[in-house]
Amino acid sequence: MAGDHVKTIRSIAEKYKKDPARLMDVLLDIKKELGYFSEDTIGAIAEAMNMPRVKVRDTLSFYAFFPREKTGEHEVLISKSVVEWMKGGEELVKAFEKELGVSCGETTKDDKVSLGFAECIGMSDQAPSAIVDGVPVGNLTPGDAKKVIEAAKKGNVSDLPGAKVAANLKKEGPVIFAPMDNGAALDAAIKMSPDDVIAEVEKSGLRGRGGAGFPTGRKWKFCRMNKSDVRYVVCNADEGEPGTFKDRVILSEKPDLLFEGMTVAGYALDAKEGILYLRGEYAYMKPALDKVLEERRKNNLLGAGIKGKKGFDFDIRIQLGAGAYVCGEESALLESAEGKRGAPRERPPFPVEKGYMDKPTSVNNVETLCAAARVMEKGADWFSAIGTKDSAGTKLISVSGDCKEPGVYEIDYGTTVADFLKLCGAEKTKAVQIGGPSGRLIAPKDFKGTISFEQFPTGGSLIVFDESRDILEYMRQFMDFFTEESCGWCAPCRTGTSLLLVEFEKVLDGRGTQADLDNLKKLGELVKTMSRCGLGQTAANPILTSMESFPELYKAIIKPDEYIGRFEFDKAVKAGEEMAGRKSELEEAHS
Ligand code: SF4
Repeated sequence: MAGDHVKTIRSIAEKYKKDPARLMDVLLDIKKELGYFSEDTIGAIAEAMNMPRVKVRDTLSFYAFFPREKTGEHEVLISKSVVEWMKGGEELVKAFEKELGVSCGETTKDDKVSLGFAECIGMSDQAPSAIVDGVPVGNLTPGDAKKVIEAAKKGNVSDLPGAKVAANLKKEGPVIFAPMDNGAALDAAIKMSPDDVIAEVEKSGLRGRGGAGFPTGRKWKFCRMNKSDVRYVVCNADEGEPGTFKDRVILSEKPDLLFEGMTVAGYALDAKEGILYLRGEYAYMKPALDKVLEERRKNNLLGAGIKGKKGFDFDIRIQLGAGAYVCGEESALLESAEGKRGAPRERPPFPVEKGYMDKPTSVNNVETLCAAARVMEKGADWFSAIGTKDSAGTKLISVSGDCKEPGVYEIDYGTTVADFLKLCGAEKTKAVQIGGPSGRLIAPKDFKGTISFEQFPTGGSLIVFDESRDILEYMRQFMDFFTEESCGWCAPCRTGTSLLLVEFEKVLDGRGTQADLDNLKKLGELVKTMSRCGLGQTAANPILTSMESFPELYKAIIKPDEYIGRFEFDKAVKAGEEMAGRKSELEEAHS
């Protein structure tokens, strides 16, 4: 390996004080410098970090953004999600493949451009989209492929019209998007004791906005109850659920509110350090966010003695992810933030007992922390008066698919799906996917239901399908997504998601029977109950909820037979003949 490469690796390792917990940062910096990770590079990293080579390889191999093969000077990653496909993503892929003369996953012969896929990049409101040399570019058409490649080669991707990421904030509510003076929530918090801050958040009824809805005040209380000299506040900004992009809008429009919420949590938990875990697909936001943090330090809103209060010391750093959906699960996120593979942990112990670096840690969602800041500023009673009894406050919805006004809406909890569809200009709606692939598919008969923890909870993704859509094909794509993203740690999820996909495809091919549907249900329930983390526990939802909401679609495609085998002998023989370039003896004997 070239001496200057070794020097680069050593100086990056020094920059992070050879701390194994900062391995992700080390790898991200090295990727920027060297582009990919050869065996020699892995060896040099291990040496520079004083770590076993196997540990470096273990982390590297987990993340989509750490290539092991040489890539091109420029990189085009096309966002691959259901909404992207609904809006012409497939045609976009073909246009890039034609323009570059390579297939997705390959690099041009002159080593100039690599073409690949990224899972949903948080631009479903501007689909189809791609990340080009780290810059997100939206509203692409097949005709743009040439322009995009030229811009990459000239180094001016940021000048492309689609590179100006629109906030698409369509409705501002009273909690997240109302104006607030920086420091107002902190002023209110420091007038109270940390225990009283927690009590106020508990009283407000604020529940985690990630979808599960655990009461935030209770989480903070549990975290504080665990005796420790060190506690951490971690913000989960790894929104990877296809169709979700609300954190993107908060991070670009309201970063101060988020950092204020994290700092309030720091005060309540007596934590000194906060970590914003930012998904790798949003790396382009990091410089602007770092600037906001710097500004807050200057204004005594971060650092030592915040707001002049002795002993109130708290600071925040940003940890980038590297393209792994499962890191949205809080324990996987913590593993990743510690520089390891993002494999979910066995629970208990929960992060409030043993979280980041085995210390009590509160992991909260971006929107939750913003709402917590607002509870401090305006009081628990003000907050709990919005929404419904069990779902206090507002909810951010990122809507995409078949509607006239895709974007982010801040609505009161308790809004019906029907009213929301009117708001975003959806017409002739056949189905709505609430909460991304791990959520549920609902039919028009359910549109009178409300967006709330009581009825239809959601982390924030809502995808609209109109009457023209082949819904089951999109459910197939969701299942494909889960097989790709399963971390492989536990067998029910690792093999279960693949088995579900194979069985489901058989039904979609028109070769399924009622027995296959019964099997799919059984298998789906098994994967749900036996899997270790939320990914596996919800992976069968596209099949199970579409069966529940649209039984007629399945009835229309199944055969009346009792049993049809999965293996298709004729198809297999034909494929073999094509590969061998001759007819099989069997066929010749019959011809
Ligand atoms: Fe990994 Fe899936 Fe098991 Fe979760 S359920 S730990 S994603 S294999």
